[in-house]
Amino acid sequence: MSLAQTQAAYQPTALTVERSASTFTIDWADGHHSAFRLAWMRYVCPCASCREDRRQTEDDPLRLALGPPPSAEAGRAELVGNYAIRFTWADGHGNGIYSFSSLRASCPCAVCNRGEPDTLLGS
Ligand SMILES: [Zn+2]
Ligand SMILES: [Zn+2]
Repeated sequence: MSLAQTQAAYQPTALTVERSASTFTIDWADGHHSAFRLAWMRYVCPCASCREDRRQTEDDPLRLALGPPPSAEAGRAELVGNYAIRFTWADGHGNGIYSFSSLRASCPCAVCNRGEPDTLLGS
């Protein structure tokens, strides 16, 4: 793949939050289509405090039982420059910045990853 093709692949032409389906979809410039569950997006939130939370949960799985699960309802989505998107969730959490390259790397379709990765790849 040439560099130009790589950049095209990481450039979205359409970004859609489908609230009724709880899905975030991206159409890419190279024609590929990705659909991410919002619950997965929240689960892999790349911000520092969520990374730390996940690390501690690995050490102590019972920690999961404390407190309510994080909201997977997207309150707001906004572009960060031309390289990323930031979601602010209904519970107010909004530190995670999802770069388009990492979303493309994490595409759960049968061709890319054959399922949802455990973390945001390439971030
Ligand atoms: Zn977070
Ligand atoms: Zn894919």
